[in-house]
Amino acid sequence: MLAFLLLLQAQAPVQRAAQTISSEDIRRRIGIIADDSMRGRDTPSPELDKVAQYIAREYRRLGLKPGGENGSFLQRYSIDRVQVVAESSVAFIHGGADVTFSYGTDFVFVDNSFDSGDYAGDLVLLSGPLGGTLAGDSASLAGKMLIANRPRNRGEFQRVLAWKPQGVVFVGTAPDSVWRRNVERSTRPQLRDPSRSVGPPVVLAVRAVSLQPVLGRLGQDLSVAQNATTLEAKPLTGAQLHLHARIQAVERNSAPNVVSILEGSDPTLKNEYVVFSAHMDHVGVAGPRGSGGCRAKGADSICNGADDDGSGTVAVVEIAEALAGMNPRPKRSIIFLNVSGEEKGLWGSEYFSDHPAVPISSIVADLNIDMIGRNWKDTIVAIGKEHSDLGATLNRVGAAHPELNMRPIDDIWPDENFYFRSDHYNFARKGVPILFFFSGTHADYHQVSDSPDKIDAEKESRVARLIFYLGVDIANAAERPKWNPDSYKRIVSGN
Ligand SMILES: [Zn+2]
Repeated sequence: MLAFLLLLQAQAPVQRAAQTISSEDIRRRIGIIADDSMRGRDTPSPELDKVAQYIAREYRRLGLKPGGENGSFLQRYSIDRVQVVAESSVAFIHGGADVTFSYGTDFVFVDNSFDSGDYAGDLVLLSGPLGGTLAGDSASLAGKMLIANRPRNRGEFQRVLAWKPQGVVFVGTAPDSVWRRNVERSTRPQLRDPSRSVGPPVVLAVRAVSLQPVLGRLGQDLSVAQNATTLEAKPLTGAQLHLHARIQAVERNSAPNVVSILEGSDPTLKNEYVVFSAHMDHVGVAGPRGSGGCRAKGADSICNGADDDGSGTVAVVEIAEALAGMNPRPKRSIIFLNVSGEEKGLWGSEYFSDHPAVPISSIVADLNIDMIGRNWKDTIVAIGKEHSDLGATLNRVGAAHPELNMRPIDDIWPDENFYFRSDHYNFARKGVPILFFFSGTHADYHQVSDSPDKIDAEKESRVARLIFYLGVDIANAAERPKWNPDSYKRIVSGN
């Protein structure tokens, strides 16, 4: 009986804290950040900055410690908008087959992470699939101009970049109409991916019809190289590619992440951190072509992103409020992270994981939340359960809280590979075990109708309480979460 009373006393502060996560708060906060006045929180935009300021004010009010730059709650990464100068960009091949390629007719830049300049190097023809085992030493490809088949995925593209060539020519096989669209798209002002370093290689696509005769004169057959089944590098001795690549910055800008810290109560464990994360950006306002697939409907062109990811954003703030009010505080420290640029390509989380507020090895888990305000009332999908013991911990915490009527279930869309597709992946690739909470998509996904009135705030409050209880459990556990060794090998060591 006494033990029971002590247990009750020990649990009471946690339960009281959980009660502060309420449907009313969730509805009110989503109403603020997904309001039409926030214009869809595009990255970058003044409205995204307004939302970041709002979240930072809330963290300050809660007495949390700033985890951003210069004692602030904000961490900023720069984003430039650049534009290819098509009319002064030219490519020449010398030595054995002199030819000039002009922009648009023969080639396009497929990438904008380079500076204006003249680039030159010896040509090497890569035959076969880029994912294959390379016969020979990849060190011989450094500084060269590679001609290669198009990469089939991001991994193959990154593999080519890692060889450190001076330039990469992918063979363009698109039909005329698609090629014309590619040319048009490549010459519009575009944001530069802030996670890539600016510099060689310059990456271009040369049309197969332009490239074929040149390679013929160099004694090669393009279609043989394209259809080869093994990856092989053939130096085209004496032949060089010279490139006049011209690009200009049309706008210099930056975007924020919001970072706050609740210090742990245990003198040793407080040097370890549990992260709660969600992306505060969305796709902005529907343009003539739509933004992120979002189309205007009648007079409404604002893609509110109430569920995606207004719901996760306010869940992190609500969980912060609950944890900040706890006495005693959890043993480990907690980081509340609201990133931006997710919709553009996980930019903010990539930046944070490369420039973390604390050593990345001291982060014991990332609980990432994206779209938890719609669909079924009684279950929540947790992606990544099979990769670490966080899955078992979540099952145990879920079972200990039947009053939530919110059962955590396994990934029901394994073919979608969601594990690799949102912000948590940037933690996983750095060796941090993760869980990703996600209620699935719906007809309003990336549409102007993903609006605050559609949010099931009552359901979301129960999901957020479950994630809160899970975070407290992880923060107070004697041991930090552990990877499943096979998953670690595949997801972390493979990087
Ligand atoms: Zn999202």
